[in-house]
Amino acid sequence: MSASDPPASGPLTEPAHTAAAVLSTGDEIMLGQLQDTNARWLSERLAQAGVPVVAHMAVGDDLARLTAALRGLVGQAPLVIMTGGLGPTDGDLTRAALAALQGEPLIEDPAALEALRARLAARGRALSDRNRRQATRPVSAACLHNAHGTAPGLRLRAGPGLAEVFALPGPPGELRPMFLAHVEPALRPAVRGGLATTLLHLAGVPESDAAERIADLTARGGESVVNITASGGVLTVRIRSASALGPGAARAEAERLAALARQRLAPYVFGADAETLQGVLVRRLAQAGQRLAVAESCTAGLLGATIASVPGASAVLDGGWITYSNGLKVAQLGVPEATLAQHGAVSVQTAAQMAAGALARCAATHALAVTGIAGPDGGTPDKPVGTVCIAHAQRTSGGAEVVSRRLLIAGDRQDVRERACRAAMSALEMHLREERSPGVLWQIGPATREFQPFL
Ligand code: ATP
Ligand code: MG
Repeated sequence: MSASDPPASGPLTEPAHTAAAVLSTGDEIMLGQLQDTNARWLSERLAQAGVPVVAHMAVGDDLARLTAALRGLVGQAPLVIMTGGLGPTDGDLTRAALAALQGEPLIEDPAALEALRARLAARGRALSDRNRRQATRPVSAACLHNAHGTAPGLRLRAGPGLAEVFALPGPPGELRPMFLAHVEPALRPAVRGGLATTLLHLAGVPESDAAERIADLTARGGESVVNITASGGVLTVRIRSASALGPGAARAEAERLAALARQRLAPYVFGADAETLQGVLVRRLAQAGQRLAVAESCTAGLLGATIASVPGASAVLDGGWITYSNGLKVAQLGVPEATLAQHGAVSVQTAAQMAAGALARCAATHALAVTGIAGPDGGTPDKPVGTVCIAHAQRTSGGAEVVSRRLLIAGDRQDVRERACRAAMSALEMHLREERSPGVLWQIGPATREFQPFL
C-alpha cells in the first residue's frame, strides 16, 4: 500500500475493487418462484460506481454448496456481495457458510444482540433463542447495522487474495438501504476516472422508430455507450459515459448525449433517470391544478392503483369505476346500449363513452378509459386477444372532447393489462405536455351523449 492510498475504514484494509461478484441465495430462486432482482439492482449500482460485475451466481439453501460457491467467488473477485439467508430460520445459512469458509466459529456480537433486543422490544416482542442466532457472526466478521429489519449484515475478508465479502439481507427493502449505507461508501473502483449514466424514458413510439432516430448515437464507438431497452411499453435510452478526466467530464459527456437524444425523440420522452410514467403524470396534473378520474374494463382497477402508487396522488386522482360487464358500463357510466350493440364493448366508441361518462359523473378535468381483450380467451378475428381501446376525455364548456384509439398489444394477460395502463397514462401525459397523441378525436355533447368524429 502506498502512502497516497486512503486509510482503511474500520478493521478492514481494502484492495481496489477491480471486479465484483454477486451471490444470491435461496431455494425460492432455484425453484423459479422468486426472481433475483437483488442481483440486477446491485449490478446496476456497482456499474454506476465504476466497479464491473464479472459474475452472478445463485445457490439454494444448502450449506455445502453455499460454502463452495463462496470459496470459488472469493478467488475470482476482490469484492463479493451476498444477498439473503440472514434470517432466523433453519434455511438461513449465510452466517454458517461464512463461518465454514473462514474455518471459524460463530460468536455472539454484543452490540448486534442489543440492537436486536431493542428492535424486538419496540414491537412488544421478546428475544427468542432463534432470534438470537441473527446476532451471531464469524469471529473475523463485522456486523452491519440494519435499520429496516432484524438481521444485521456482515463484512469480512476471505480467500487467498483477502477478497472483501459483504452479506446483506434478502428483502429488497433492507438490502438497498444497507448497500447505500455500508457498501457504496466503501467501494474503491480501480480506475479513478469518471463514469456517468443517464436514462431517458419514452412511451408511445415503437422501439425500431426510436432506434432509427438515434442510430448515429447508438452506433458510436469510443468510451460512451448508448442503447435502448424496452420493458412493458416503456422504452429506455441508456447512456453511459466514461472519461479518464474524471466524473465531471463523464457527466458532461453523458448530458451532451442525453440532450441530443432528447432533441431527436422529443415528443415521446416523458422522463429521465428514476422517473416513472405514473410519477410524471401525477406531477404534470398537479402542476396544471387538474384532476383525473378513470373508467376501467379490462384493467379492472390497475390503472387507478398504478396512479395511486405515486405519493401525493390524492392531489390529482378523484377515483374511478371498474365496469367489467356491459351492464355496469351502462348503469355506472351511461354508455349507450346502442353503442355497445353496434360497436361492441371493445371499441373506440365504447372507450370514448366510458371516458365521457366518467367526466359527467365527477368534477375532474380529465378521464381515462380502458376497454380490451386481455385473453387468453375472448379474441375474435376482428378483435384478437390484445385488442385494447383507450380514451382520454377532457372537459369542455359544451361537454367533453375525447381522443380514443385502438391498439394491439402483445403478451400474456398481465402484459396486456399493464401495457394498456401505460398507453392510457402516456396519452394523457403527452396531452399535458401539449404533444398530440394519436387517435380519433370526438366531441360528446352532455345531453344527447351522441358523438361525432371531429376532424
Ligand atoms: P429474512 O430475515 O426476511 O428471512 P433473509 O436475509 O434471510 O431475510 P431470505 O430468507 O433469503 O433473506 O429472503 C427473504 C425474502 O427476501 C424472500 O422471500 C424474497 O421476498 C426476498 N429476496 C430474497 N432474495 C432475493 C433476491 N435475490 N431478489 C429479490 N428478492 C429477494
Ligand atoms: Mg430468510
